[in-house]
Amino acid sequence: MADFHMETKCVQSGYRPKNGEPREVPIIQSTTFKYDTSADMGKLFDLEASGYFYSRLQNPTNDYVAAKIADMEGGTAAMLTSSGQAANFFAVFNIATAGDHVVASSSIYGGTYNLFHVTMRKMGIDFTFVSPDCTEDELNAAFRPNTRAVFGETIANPALTVFDFEKFSKAAHAHGVPLIIDNTFATPVNCRPFQWGADIVTHSTTKYMDGHGSCVGGAIVDSGSFDWMAHAEKFPGLTTPDDSYHGIVYAEKFGKEGAFITKATAQLMRDFGAIPSPYSSYILNLGLESLHCRMKQHCANGLAVARFLSESDMVEQVSYPSLPGDPYYSRAQKYMNGGDTCGVVSFRIKGSRTDAEAFMKHLKIFAIETHVADARSCCLHPASSTHRQLTDQELLDAGINSNLIRMSCGLENTEDLVQDIAQALDAVKASR
Ligand code: PLP
Repeated sequence: MADFHMETKCVQSGYRPKNGEPREVPIIQSTTFKYDTSADMGKLFDLEASGYFYSRLQNPTNDYVAAKIADMEGGTAAMLTSSGQAANFFAVFNIATAGDHVVASSSIYGGTYNLFHVTMRKMGIDFTFVSPDCTEDELNAAFRPNTRAVFGETIANPALTVFDFEKFSKAAHAHGVPLIIDNTFATPVNCRPFQWGADIVTHSTTKYMDGHGSCVGGAIVDSGSFDWMAHAEKFPGLTTPDDSYHGIVYAEKFGKEGAFITKATAQLMRDFGAIPSPYSSYILNLGLESLHCRMKQHCANGLAVARFLSESDMVEQVSYPSLPGDPYYSRAQKYMNGGDTCGVVSFRIKGSRTDAEAFMKHLKIFAIETHVADARSCCLHPASSTHRQLTDQELLDAGINSNLIRMSCGLENTEDLVQDIAQALDAVKASR
Protein backbone atom coordinates (compact mmCIF):
# COMPACT_ATOMS: atom_id res chain seq x y z
CA MET A 1 0.00 0.00 0.00
CA ALA A 2 2.93 2.21 -0.86
CA ASP A 3 0.85 5.12 -2.12
CA PHE A 4 -1.35 5.52 0.93
CA HIS A 5 -0.85 7.83 3.90
CA MET A 6 0.46 6.58 7.25
CA GLU A 7 -3.01 6.56 8.83
CA THR A 8 -4.29 4.18 6.14
CA LYS A 9 -1.19 1.97 6.40
CA CYS A 10 -1.60 1.67 10.19
CA VAL A 11 -5.12 0.37 9.72
CA GLN A 12 -5.01 -1.51 6.43
CA SER A 13 -1.49 -2.67 5.52
CA GLY A 14 -0.26 -6.22 5.99
CA TYR A 15 -3.18 -8.62 6.06
CA ARG A 16 -5.41 -8.21 2.97
CA PRO A 17 -8.21 -10.81 3.12
CA LYS A 18 -9.42 -12.43 -0.10
CA ASN A 19 -13.02 -13.17 -0.95
CA GLY A 20 -14.79 -14.74 2.05
CA GLU A 21 -11.76 -14.71 4.33
CA PRO A 22 -11.83 -13.31 7.90
CA ARG A 23 -11.76 -9.51 8.07
CA GLU A 24 -9.54 -9.51 11.17
CA VAL A 25 -5.94 -10.83 11.15
CA PRO A 26 -6.31 -14.59 11.80
CA ILE A 27 -4.38 -16.03 14.75
CA ILE A 28 -2.73 -19.09 13.21
CA GLN A 29 -1.99 -20.78 16.54
CA SER A 30 -0.16 -23.76 15.04
CA THR A 31 3.42 -24.88 15.50
CA THR A 32 3.42 -26.88 12.31
CA PHE A 33 1.95 -27.00 8.78
CA LYS A 34 0.77 -29.95 6.69
CA TYR A 35 2.06 -30.92 3.20
CA ASP A 36 0.90 -33.51 0.68
CA THR A 37 4.34 -34.73 -0.31
CA SER A 38 7.86 -34.70 1.11
CA ALA A 39 8.95 -33.03 -2.13
CA ASP A 40 6.62 -30.08 -1.39
CA MET A 41 8.15 -29.68 2.04
CA GLY A 42 11.69 -30.19 0.73
CA LYS A 43 11.29 -27.10 -1.47
CA LEU A 44 10.70 -25.03 1.67
CA PHE A 45 13.80 -26.43 3.34
CA ASP A 46 15.83 -25.55 0.25
CA LEU A 47 14.33 -22.01 0.22
CA GLU A 48 13.08 -22.88 -3.29
CA ALA A 49 9.47 -22.06 -2.38
CA SER A 50 8.02 -19.70 0.22
CA GLY A 51 5.72 -21.13 2.85
CA TYR A 52 5.56 -22.31 6.43
CA PHE A 53 6.75 -25.49 8.05
CA TYR A 54 7.52 -24.70 11.70
CA SER A 55 6.57 -21.66 13.80
CA ARG A 56 10.03 -21.38 15.39
CA LEU A 57 11.09 -19.79 12.08
CA GLN A 58 7.97 -18.21 10.64
CA ASN A 59 4.24 -18.00 11.22
CA PRO A 60 1.60 -16.41 8.98
CA THR A 61 0.11 -14.19 11.72
CA ASN A 62 3.55 -12.78 12.52
CA ASP A 63 4.24 -12.22 8.83
CA TYR A 64 0.99 -10.29 8.27
CA VAL A 65 1.96 -7.91 11.05
CA ALA A 66 5.60 -7.70 9.92
CA ALA A 67 4.36 -6.77 6.43
CA LYS A 68 2.35 -3.91 7.96
CA ILE A 69 5.41 -2.56 9.79
CA ALA A 70 7.49 -2.90 6.60
CA ASP A 71 4.94 -0.82 4.74
CA MET A 72 4.77 1.79 7.50
CA GLU A 73 8.56 2.17 7.42
CA GLY A 74 8.70 2.09 3.61
CA GLY A 75 10.85 -1.06 3.61
CA THR A 76 10.92 -4.12 1.38
CA ALA A 77 10.88 -6.91 4.01
CA ALA A 78 10.44 -7.30 7.76
CA MET A 79 10.32 -9.87 10.53
CA LEU A 80 8.98 -9.86 14.07
CA THR A 81 11.05 -10.98 17.06
CA SER A 82 10.08 -11.87 20.61
CA SER A 83 11.58 -8.65 22.03
CA GLY A 84 13.32 -5.43 21.06
CA GLN A 85 16.53 -6.89 22.47
CA ALA A 86 16.26 -9.83 20.06
CA ALA A 87 15.61 -7.43 17.17
CA ASN A 88 18.76 -5.40 17.85
CA PHE A 89 20.82 -8.55 18.43
CA PHE A 90 19.63 -10.15 15.18
CA ALA A 91 20.05 -6.95 13.17
CA VAL A 92 23.71 -6.65 14.14
CA PHE A 93 24.61 -10.36 14.36
CA ASN A 94 23.16 -10.96 10.89
CA ILE A 95 26.13 -9.07 9.40
CA ALA A 96 28.79 -8.97 12.16
CA THR A 97 30.50 -12.01 13.62
CA ALA A 98 33.59 -12.77 15.72
CA GLY A 99 36.47 -10.51 14.66
CA ASP A 100 34.15 -7.80 13.32
CA HIS A 101 33.54 -4.30 14.65
CA VAL A 102 30.56 -1.93 14.89
CA VAL A 103 30.38 1.84 15.44
CA ALA A 104 27.49 2.78 17.75
CA SER A 105 26.15 6.01 19.17
CA SER A 106 26.84 6.18 22.91
CA SER A 107 23.35 7.61 23.38
CA ILE A 108 21.29 4.41 23.28
CA TYR A 109 19.04 2.39 25.58
CA GLY A 110 20.98 0.86 28.50
CA GLY A 111 19.86 -2.68 27.64
CA THR A 112 21.21 -2.29 24.10
CA TYR A 113 24.47 -0.84 25.44
CA ASN A 114 24.82 -3.86 27.72
CA LEU A 115 24.02 -6.26 24.85
CA PHE A 116 26.75 -4.67 22.72
CA HIS A 117 29.33 -3.74 25.32
CA VAL A 118 29.22 -6.93 27.41
CA THR A 119 27.42 -9.82 25.73
CA MET A 120 28.32 -9.35 22.08
CA ARG A 121 31.90 -8.47 23.06
CA LYS A 122 32.07 -11.95 24.62
CA MET A 123 31.08 -13.25 21.19
CA GLY A 124 34.13 -11.54 19.70
CA ILE A 125 32.40 -8.50 18.17
CA ASP A 126 33.98 -5.18 19.14
CA PHE A 127 32.10 -1.88 19.48
CA THR A 128 33.29 1.72 19.43
CA PHE A 129 30.81 4.12 21.04
CA VAL A 130 30.81 7.68 19.73
CA SER A 131 28.99 10.74 20.98
CA PRO A 132 25.84 11.44 18.93
CA ASP A 133 27.18 14.98 18.63
CA CYS A 134 30.73 14.04 17.55
CA THR A 135 32.32 15.83 14.61
CA GLU A 136 32.55 14.16 11.20
CA ASP A 137 36.29 13.68 11.78
CA GLU A 138 35.72 11.98 15.13
CA LEU A 139 33.08 9.75 13.57
CA ASN A 140 35.26 8.76 10.61
CA ALA A 141 38.15 8.02 12.97
CA ALA A 142 36.00 5.38 14.74
CA PHE A 143 35.85 3.16 11.63
CA ARG A 144 38.22 0.24 11.11
CA PRO A 145 38.78 -2.08 8.15
CA ASN A 146 36.63 -4.70 9.97
CA THR A 147 33.71 -2.33 10.71
CA ARG A 148 30.43 -3.89 9.55
CA ALA A 149 27.68 -1.49 10.66
CA VAL A 150 26.77 1.79 12.33
CA PHE A 151 24.06 1.76 15.00
CA GLY A 152 21.97 4.51 16.64
CA GLU A 153 18.54 5.42 18.03
CA THR A 154 16.26 7.98 16.38
CA ILE A 155 15.33 9.42 19.81
CA ALA A 156 17.55 7.88 22.46
CA ASN A 157 16.11 6.30 25.59
CA PRO A 158 16.53 7.89 28.14
CA ALA A 159 18.78 10.77 26.99
CA LEU A 160 16.23 12.05 24.40
CA THR A 161 19.01 13.02 21.99
CA VAL A 162 17.91 13.16 18.35
CA PHE A 163 20.07 11.21 15.90
CA ASP A 164 21.98 13.15 13.25
CA PHE A 165 20.93 10.93 10.33
CA GLU A 166 22.76 12.77 7.61
CA LYS A 167 26.13 12.81 9.38
CA PHE A 168 25.97 9.14 10.40
CA SER A 169 24.53 7.76 7.14
CA LYS A 170 27.11 9.66 5.10
CA ALA A 171 29.95 8.18 7.17
CA ALA A 172 28.44 4.65 7.15
CA HIS A 173 28.05 4.64 3.38
CA ALA A 174 31.46 6.20 2.78
CA HIS A 175 32.90 3.21 4.65
CA GLY A 176 30.70 0.72 2.77
CA VAL A 177 28.53 -0.40 5.70
CA PRO A 178 24.80 -0.06 6.51
CA LEU A 179 23.23 2.25 9.08
CA ILE A 180 20.99 0.36 11.55
CA ILE A 181 18.50 2.55 13.42
CA ASP A 182 16.35 1.71 16.44
CA ASN A 183 13.20 3.74 15.69
CA THR A 184 11.29 2.70 18.83
CA PHE A 185 10.59 6.10 20.40
CA ALA A 186 9.70 8.02 17.24
CA THR A 187 7.81 5.19 15.47
CA PRO A 188 7.31 5.52 11.69
CA VAL A 189 4.45 7.92 12.44
CA ASN A 190 6.97 10.58 13.51
CA CYS A 191 10.14 9.55 11.67
CA ARG A 192 10.89 7.34 8.68
CA PRO A 193 14.64 6.68 8.93
CA PHE A 194 14.90 5.21 5.40
CA GLN A 195 14.15 8.68 4.01
CA TRP A 196 17.26 9.93 5.81
CA GLY A 197 19.73 7.27 4.74
CA ALA A 198 19.17 4.42 7.21
CA ASP A 199 19.36 0.92 5.73
CA ILE A 200 17.89 -1.28 8.48
CA VAL A 201 15.34 -0.24 11.11
CA THR A 202 14.61 -2.04 14.40
CA HIS A 203 11.85 -1.62 16.97
CA SER A 204 10.97 -2.58 20.47
CA THR A 205 7.29 -3.02 19.59
CA THR A 206 6.76 -3.35 23.36
CA LYS A 207 6.58 0.46 23.46
CA TYR A 208 4.30 2.70 21.38
CA MET A 209 3.54 0.13 18.68
CA ASP A 210 1.85 -2.22 21.13
CA GLY A 211 0.98 0.87 23.12
CA HIS A 212 -0.92 -0.79 25.96
CA GLY A 213 1.84 -2.50 27.91
CA SER A 214 0.52 -5.90 26.80
CA CYS A 215 3.18 -7.79 24.85
CA VAL A 216 6.97 -7.69 24.70
CA GLY A 217 8.09 -7.79 21.06
CA GLY A 218 10.44 -6.50 18.39
CA ALA A 219 10.72 -5.95 14.65
CA ILE A 220 13.44 -5.62 12.00
CA VAL A 221 12.78 -3.88 8.68
CA ASP A 222 15.04 -3.79 5.63
CA SER A 223 14.99 -0.76 3.33
CA GLY A 224 16.16 -3.01 0.48
CA SER A 225 18.59 -0.28 -0.55
CA PHE A 226 21.95 -1.50 0.75
CA ASP A 227 23.99 -3.17 -1.98
CA TRP A 228 25.60 -6.15 -0.22
CA MET A 229 27.25 -7.38 -3.43
CA ALA A 230 29.00 -4.02 -3.94
CA HIS A 231 30.79 -4.67 -0.60
CA ALA A 232 30.84 -8.46 -0.91
CA GLU A 233 34.11 -8.97 0.99
CA LYS A 234 32.65 -7.32 4.11
CA PHE A 235 29.48 -9.41 4.22
CA PRO A 236 30.41 -13.02 3.36
CA GLY A 237 27.33 -14.30 5.21
CA LEU A 238 25.16 -12.66 2.56
CA THR A 239 27.42 -12.88 -0.46
CA THR A 240 28.97 -16.38 -0.28
CA PRO A 241 27.26 -19.80 -0.22
CA ASP A 242 25.42 -20.86 2.96
CA ASP A 243 26.31 -24.50 3.56
CA SER A 244 23.30 -24.95 5.83
CA TYR A 245 21.02 -24.20 2.84
CA HIS A 246 22.70 -26.14 0.04
CA GLY A 247 25.00 -23.35 -0.94
CA ILE A 248 22.46 -20.56 -1.40
CA VAL A 249 23.95 -17.07 -1.78
CA TYR A 250 21.33 -14.84 -0.13
CA ALA A 251 22.25 -11.60 -1.89
CA GLU A 252 22.10 -13.33 -5.29
CA LYS A 253 18.95 -15.36 -4.75
CA PHE A 254 16.87 -12.78 -2.84
CA GLY A 255 18.45 -9.53 -4.07
CA LYS A 256 18.91 -6.31 -2.14
CA GLU A 257 15.21 -6.33 -1.26
CA GLY A 258 15.03 -9.72 0.46
CA ALA A 259 18.51 -11.00 1.39
CA PHE A 260 18.86 -9.51 4.87
CA ILE A 261 15.50 -10.64 6.28
CA THR A 262 15.63 -14.05 4.55
CA LYS A 263 19.04 -14.75 6.08
CA ALA A 264 17.95 -13.53 9.54
CA THR A 265 14.88 -15.77 9.36
CA ALA A 266 16.52 -18.83 7.82
CA GLN A 267 19.63 -18.79 10.03
CA LEU A 268 19.10 -16.72 13.18
CA MET A 269 15.44 -17.48 13.85
CA ARG A 270 16.09 -21.13 13.02
CA ASP A 271 18.97 -21.29 15.49
CA PHE A 272 17.86 -18.92 18.25
CA GLY A 273 14.07 -19.17 17.93
CA ALA A 274 13.31 -15.72 19.38
CA ILE A 275 9.89 -15.62 17.73
CA PRO A 276 6.73 -14.00 19.14
CA SER A 277 3.61 -16.07 19.62
CA PRO A 278 0.92 -15.50 16.97
CA TYR A 279 -1.38 -14.26 19.71
CA SER A 280 1.14 -11.57 20.74
CA SER A 281 1.41 -10.49 17.11
CA TYR A 282 -2.38 -10.24 16.90
CA ILE A 283 -2.35 -7.93 19.95
CA LEU A 284 0.48 -5.92 18.38
CA ASN A 285 -1.63 -5.45 15.26
CA LEU A 286 -4.46 -4.01 17.34
CA GLY A 287 -1.98 -1.49 18.71
CA LEU A 288 -0.68 -0.62 15.24
CA GLU A 289 -4.19 0.13 14.00
CA SER A 290 -4.42 3.14 16.32
CA LEU A 291 -0.73 4.14 16.43
CA HIS A 292 -1.24 7.26 14.30
CA CYS A 293 -4.03 8.53 16.59
CA ARG A 294 -2.20 7.68 19.79
CA MET A 295 1.15 9.24 18.82
CA LYS A 296 -0.60 12.62 18.33
CA GLN A 297 -1.94 12.54 21.90
CA HIS A 298 1.33 11.23 23.40
CA CYS A 299 3.16 14.11 21.71
CA ALA A 300 0.58 16.75 22.64
CA ASN A 301 0.76 15.61 26.26
CA GLY A 302 4.57 15.46 26.18
CA LEU A 303 4.81 19.02 24.84
CA ALA A 304 2.29 20.42 27.34
CA VAL A 305 4.09 18.73 30.24
CA ALA A 306 7.52 19.88 28.99
CA ARG A 307 6.24 23.47 28.60
CA PHE A 308 4.76 23.48 32.06
CA LEU A 309 7.91 22.06 33.63
CA SER A 310 10.14 24.54 31.79
CA GLU A 311 8.14 27.43 33.29
CA SER A 312 8.12 26.07 36.87
CA ASP A 313 10.40 27.62 39.51
CA MET A 314 10.70 24.12 41.02
CA VAL A 315 12.48 22.77 37.94
CA GLU A 316 16.19 23.01 37.17
CA GLN A 317 16.23 21.62 33.60
CA VAL A 318 13.91 19.95 31.07
CA SER A 319 14.77 17.66 28.14
CA TYR A 320 12.20 17.33 25.39
CA PRO A 321 13.30 17.67 21.75
CA SER A 322 9.98 19.16 20.58
CA LEU A 323 10.35 22.04 23.06
CA PRO A 324 11.84 25.23 21.55
CA GLY A 325 15.22 25.82 23.18
CA ASP A 326 16.01 22.12 23.62
CA PRO A 327 19.49 21.34 22.20
CA TYR A 328 17.88 18.82 19.81
CA TYR A 329 14.95 21.01 18.76
CA SER A 330 16.28 21.88 15.30
CA ARG A 331 17.17 18.24 14.56
CA ALA A 332 13.67 17.18 15.63
CA GLN A 333 12.19 19.83 13.33
CA LYS A 334 14.31 18.54 10.47
CA TYR A 335 13.83 14.77 10.84
CA MET A 336 10.46 14.34 12.59
CA ASN A 337 6.99 14.69 11.18
CA GLY A 338 6.01 18.27 12.10
CA GLY A 339 8.68 18.23 14.83
CA ASP A 340 6.64 15.70 16.85
CA THR A 341 8.87 13.28 18.75
CA CYS A 342 7.40 11.13 21.54
CA GLY A 343 5.66 11.34 24.91
CA VAL A 344 8.76 10.93 27.07
CA VAL A 345 10.03 14.01 28.90
CA SER A 346 12.82 14.11 31.46
CA PHE A 347 13.53 16.87 33.98
CA ARG A 348 15.60 17.72 37.01
CA ILE A 349 13.66 18.92 40.02
CA LYS A 350 15.32 21.72 42.02
CA GLY A 351 16.75 19.98 45.06
CA SER A 352 18.03 16.53 45.88
CA ARG A 353 17.12 12.91 45.25
CA THR A 354 14.80 13.16 48.29
CA ASP A 355 12.82 15.90 46.53
CA ALA A 356 12.62 13.76 43.39
CA GLU A 357 11.29 10.82 45.38
CA ALA A 358 8.85 13.04 47.30
CA PHE A 359 7.53 14.53 44.03
CA MET A 360 6.85 11.09 42.61
CA LYS A 361 5.10 9.95 45.80
CA HIS A 362 2.62 12.82 45.44
CA LEU A 363 1.68 12.02 41.82
CA LYS A 364 -1.83 10.61 41.40
CA ILE A 365 -1.97 9.79 37.66
CA PHE A 366 1.67 9.07 36.76
CA ALA A 367 2.49 5.65 38.24
CA ILE A 368 6.00 4.62 39.23
CA GLU A 369 7.08 2.02 36.62
CA THR A 370 10.19 0.97 34.72
CA HIS A 371 8.16 1.03 31.48
CA VAL A 372 7.70 3.93 29.07
CA ALA A 373 5.58 4.59 26.01
CA ASP A 374 2.19 3.09 26.70
CA ALA A 375 -1.33 4.41 27.22
CA ARG A 376 -0.97 5.02 30.97
CA SER A 377 1.30 7.82 32.17
CA CYS A 378 4.19 6.67 34.29
CA CYS A 379 7.44 7.94 35.74
CA LEU A 380 10.80 6.72 36.94
CA HIS A 381 13.54 8.05 39.18
CA PRO A 382 16.65 6.35 37.74
CA ALA A 383 18.82 7.17 40.79
CA SER A 384 16.58 5.17 43.12
CA SER A 385 15.61 2.38 40.70
CA THR A 386 17.45 1.36 37.51
CA HIS A 387 20.70 3.04 38.64
CA ARG A 388 20.33 2.72 42.44
CA GLN A 389 23.63 0.88 42.88
CA LEU A 390 25.57 4.00 41.79
CA THR A 391 26.84 6.71 44.13
CA ASP A 392 25.94 10.35 43.38
CA GLN A 393 29.36 10.84 41.75
CA GLU A 394 29.01 7.67 39.66
CA LEU A 395 25.54 8.84 38.61
CA LEU A 396 27.01 12.13 37.41
CA ASP A 397 29.74 10.27 35.53
CA ALA A 398 26.99 8.26 33.80
CA GLY A 399 25.21 11.50 32.87
CA ILE A 400 22.31 10.86 35.27
CA ASN A 401 21.67 13.44 37.97
CA SER A 402 20.23 12.20 41.26
CA ASN A 403 17.35 14.70 40.86
CA LEU A 404 16.45 13.50 37.33
CA ILE A 405 12.95 12.14 36.72
CA ARG A 406 11.73 10.52 33.49
CA MET A 407 8.04 11.07 32.73
CA SER A 408 6.23 9.01 30.08
CA CYS A 409 3.09 10.89 29.07
CA GLY A 410 0.25 8.53 28.21
CA LEU A 411 -3.09 9.16 26.57
CA GLU A 412 -4.95 10.81 29.45
CA ASN A 413 -6.36 14.34 29.32
CA THR A 414 -3.62 16.95 28.89
CA GLU A 415 -4.85 19.30 31.63
CA ASP A 416 -5.19 16.42 34.07
CA LEU A 417 -1.56 15.42 33.51
CA VAL A 418 -0.26 18.97 33.90
CA GLN A 419 -2.43 19.44 36.98
CA ASP A 420 -1.11 16.20 38.50
CA ILE A 421 2.46 17.43 38.09
CA ALA A 422 1.55 20.90 39.42
CA GLN A 423 -0.01 19.55 42.60
CA ALA A 424 2.93 17.20 43.24
CA LEU A 425 5.44 20.05 42.80
CA ASP A 426 3.31 22.24 45.12
CA ALA A 427 3.30 19.48 47.72
CA VAL A 428 7.11 19.26 47.63
CA LYS A 429 7.35 23.06 47.89
CA ALA A 430 4.98 23.14 50.88
CA SER A 431 7.01 20.52 52.72
CA ARG A 432 10.26 22.53 52.50
N1 PLP B 1 15.27 -0.22 22.16
C1 PLP B 1 14.79 0.80 22.90
C2 PLP B 1 14.92 2.20 22.39
C3 PLP B 1 14.17 0.55 24.13
O1 PLP B 1 13.69 1.58 24.85
C4 PLP B 1 14.07 -0.79 24.59
C5 PLP B 1 13.44 -1.09 25.87
O2 PLP B 1 13.12 -0.22 26.67
C6 PLP B 1 14.61 -1.81 23.79
C7 PLP B 1 15.18 -1.50 22.57
C8 PLP B 1 14.53 -3.25 24.21
O3 PLP B 1 13.24 -3.69 23.94
P1 PLP B 1 12.50 -4.87 24.73
O4 PLP B 1 12.32 -4.43 26.15
O5 PLP B 1 11.23 -5.04 23.96
O6 PLP B 1 13.38 -6.08 24.63
